[in-house]
Amino acid sequence: MPMYEFQCDDCHRVSDMYFRTISDTPAVHCRHCGSEAVRKMMSSFASPLSEQDKMARLDSKYDKQVEQAIAKAPSDSHPDHYMCKMVPFSRAKDA
Ligand SMILES: [Zn+2]
Repeated sequence: MPMYEFQCDDCHRVSDMYFRTISDTPAVHCRHCGSEAVRKMMSSFASPLSEQDKMARLDSKYDKQVEQAIAKAPSDSHPDHYMCKMVPFSRAKDA
């Protein structure tokens, strides 16, 4: 859903307007004072997150994955971990 932001020339506050389609742009009024003297500031697609927020969220997710990988690494790479899985030489010979 396209979203437009309008700034009111009268009260200088910003109104967010959502439209079903890009061509569906009915008369826009300032949400705060009702003035029709509004100017379109920018258009973007409705999203609860801005691109910057998405990047920040991605970064923290990535950091978490790195943290988890680091947290896992010591036990995975611990010699005892592999020792447990190894078949003793004596038994391997018998098998
Ligand atoms: Zn206004």
